[in-house]
Amino acid sequence: MVDTAPNALCFGDGFPATGVPCVVHVEGHGLTMAFLHNVHGTENGSDSVPFSDMTVSAGGLDHDQLVVKWNSPTEQRTLYLKNPDLIRAFRQAAPSHLSSPLERAAEQVRQVRKRHRLVWGVVGGSLLALVLGLWFGSDLLVELAVDRIPIEWEQKLGESAYRDFLGGQEVMEEGPVVAAVEEMTRRLANQIPDNPYRFDVTVVKSDVVNAFALPGGSVVVFTGMMKKAERPEEVAGVLAHELNHVLQRHGLERIVKQLGFVAVASIIFGNQQGLGQMMKQLGVELMTLKFGRAQETEADLTGLQLLYRAKIDPSGMITFFERLAEKDEGRVELLSTHPMSSSRAEQLKAELAAMPTVTPEPFVFEWDKIRTSLGVSTSTGS
Ligand SMILES: [Zn+2]
Repeated sequence: MVDTAPNALCFGDGFPATGVPCVVHVEGHGLTMAFLHNVHGTENGSDSVPFSDMTVSAGGLDHDQLVVKWNSPTEQRTLYLKNPDLIRAFRQAAPSHLSSPLERAAEQVRQVRKRHRLVWGVVGGSLLALVLGLWFGSDLLVELAVDRIPIEWEQKLGESAYRDFLGGQEVMEEGPVVAAVEEMTRRLANQIPDNPYRFDVTVVKSDVVNAFALPGGSVVVFTGMMKKAERPEEVAGVLAHELNHVLQRHGLERIVKQLGFVAVASIIFGNQQGLGQMMKQLGVELMTLKFGRAQETEADLTGLQLLYRAKIDPSGMITFFERLAEKDEGRVELLSTHPMSSSRAEQLKAELAAMPTVTPEPFVFEWDKIRTSLGVSTSTGS
C-alpha cells in the first residue's frame, strides 16, 4: 500500500497504452515511484531512477506537463508530471545537468498555463459582455450602473469639463445679469429637498443661444440665451429644466449609454476611475450631449413642478422653448441638445393646464434693467 494518491502517470514497456498511475517521490539521488494497479492504491511494483539517467522536457497533450524519460537495460519509461508541488520539488532536487532543460520545460509549462488562463478569461469575459449586451437594450442596466457612480466622482468629472470649457470663454464675473441668474438659481435650489448637488452657475458672454448643466451641478448660461428671453420666467424655466437634468443624472445616463456595456461592466465591478480615461479616449463631449426623448420629458415635468414650488410662473418654460423652435429652429444650440417636438410641447401644455394656479412671487431684480445691461432695447422686444 502507498500513503498518497497518484501524482503522475507512467508509460512504457509492459504498461497498458493508457499508462499506469503512480506515486512519485523526489529523493536526494533521483525519483522513486510506486506503480498502482488502480487508482484505489493497490501497489503494482515500484522503481527508482537516479537523476543521472533522466532527460526532461515539456509535453503532454497541451504541453503543460513535465515529461521525464529514462532508459534502463530492460525498459524505456516516460513519466508525466502535472502536480505543481511535485514539479517544484523535482526542480529543487535535480542536479546541475538537468537544471537548464528543466528551466526551459518549466517555463514552457508556465507559458501554456498562462495562455490557458488567458483563453478562459477571454471566453468568460466575452460571455459576460454578451449577457450584458443583451440586457443593455433595456435601460435597467444603465440605471444600475449610474446608481453605482458616486456623486463625488460625478462632480469631479463635471468640474474638469467645466474648467476646460470656461478656459476659452469670456466669463461675466459680476453685475446685474449675474445677480439675476443667481437669484433664479437660489429660488429653485431652495425647493429641492435633500439636494446632494451644489449648483454652480456661470454666465458666459456669447451670442450663442444656449444653457447647459454638466453632471455634478455646474451650469453655464449664455448671454445670447438671456437676450432672447422676453420674461425672466423664461430663463428660470430653462434653468429649472437644466437643474432637473442634473438631479435625474441624465448626463451620466447618456455617457454610460454612449460608452456601452464595457463601461457599465467596469463600473459595476468597481472600476469607476477607468471610465474617465475611457471617456477621453472616446472623445465624449459633455457639453454637446444630446438628451433622449424620455429624459427631456422627465426634465420638463420635474422642471414644471420645481418652478411651481418656487412660485415662479411655469408657463415661461413652455413659451420660451416654443418661441425658439418657431423662430430659430436649426440655429439654436439649446434646441439641438434639447430637441423641441410638437409632442413635447403638447405634453407640457397639458401638464401645465392640470396644475393648480400659482400666485407668482416676483423676482427682486428688474428684468428691463437686465435687458438693458445685456444691450437689448426694451421697446423692440427680442
Ligand atoms: Zn433638456
